[in-house]
Amino acid sequence: MFRDDLAEVDPGAGFLVEVFDPDARRLGLAAWSPASKISLRFLSADPDLEIRDRGRWFSERIGLALERRAPLEQETDSYRVAWSEADGLPGLIADRYADVVVLQTLNPFMEEHLDHIVPALVELLRPRMVLARNDSGVRAYEGLPRRIELCHGTRVESVSIREHELELRVDPFRGQKTGYYLDQRPARKLVERLSSESEGRVLDLFCHTGSFALHAARGGASEVIAVDSSEKALEECAAAAERNSLSNVHTQRGNAFAVLKSLQASGETFDGIVLDPPAFAKRREDLSSARRGYRDINSRAMRLLRHGGWLVTSSCSANLRPEDFHRVLSESAGRAGRSFVDRGRLQVAMDHPVLLTLPESDYLKVHHLQAPSD
Ligand code: SAH
Repeated sequence: MFRDDLAEVDPGAGFLVEVFDPDARRLGLAAWSPASKISLRFLSADPDLEIRDRGRWFSERIGLALERRAPLEQETDSYRVAWSEADGLPGLIADRYADVVVLQTLNPFMEEHLDHIVPALVELLRPRMVLARNDSGVRAYEGLPRRIELCHGTRVESVSIREHELELRVDPFRGQKTGYYLDQRPARKLVERLSSESEGRVLDLFCHTGSFALHAARGGASEVIAVDSSEKALEECAAAAERNSLSNVHTQRGNAFAVLKSLQASGETFDGIVLDPPAFAKRREDLSSARRGYRDINSRAMRLLRHGGWLVTSSCSANLRPEDFHRVLSESAGRAGRSFVDRGRLQVAMDHPVLLTLPESDYLKVHHLQAPSD
């Protein structure tokens, strides 16, 4: 609920507030964000929700979120335990990396309840460390400072995680976001399968620590080129390739836009390409330049694909709606002068649930496209 929708605010109410409509009917309990344009985030759609014991409430909510993720343990020891509104914990993100938890509190309500959240996570997961990576820029909208804080245990600088058959390392203190991009797990499995079918040359653009590239190599790609602008991310990618005995992964530092141009200029081609850029439309105002950016990289990647080749292409901009991204992809194919088969949008992983009533939670769009075979 936005600030403009509120008639009256009790200044002494604290960060957990009861909300009433103009006829004094109770709408429910919400987290109050005094500094943000988004003033209220409801804890539940149930208007009668009461919280008597806050410690118990947090441990029950987090416990339920954890139970829903139990099936994931077969494929990984690392997943998002709490995904904000979608888990009924608006403003809380908690990622589990094996026996380490990295969290973010993104509004004053969650910030204030860290001393309930951390013990709940410790009791449920028995981690070696709970780290608050509260250096995210979005905290500025809530008037919260940026800081990184060790909340429990001892400093763990590097944690080894398992995703499918791969052993990867995450740097909780210095890695991007909370250290790793857990949301692309299903797409990486797809890339592993496609690489095992094509056994060809794969290009992984915006590779970060190279999880897609490593999955492609493991699947059986003959050669993988992994490109990112971050030297630190590439160092970890190269180390992970060695650790997993994958000798055909080559890293290249560069701007993906420029790399695509120069690959085209030198006439290189690929059997598979992964595009997983950062959010180009972080704000609504960025939408038209974001569309241009997505069109640019997608049309260039489409030109580089061999006959029958595959493209796994993503957008994680919540502001770019799924149908809009789909249109951008079809325009890109038009520009590339090739007709691609849309093999479908991938389903999101169960640790990043999509809330029907919250379109913003449907932020990750991943499409599998196939180049024409003649
Ligand atoms: N595919 C990755 C996650 C990508 S996150 C994975 O599976 O883990 C986006 C990445 O793009 C970041 O690692 C960032 O360093 C990189 N990046 C941002 N802008 C870039 C650019 N213009 N060229 C190349 N890499 C870029």
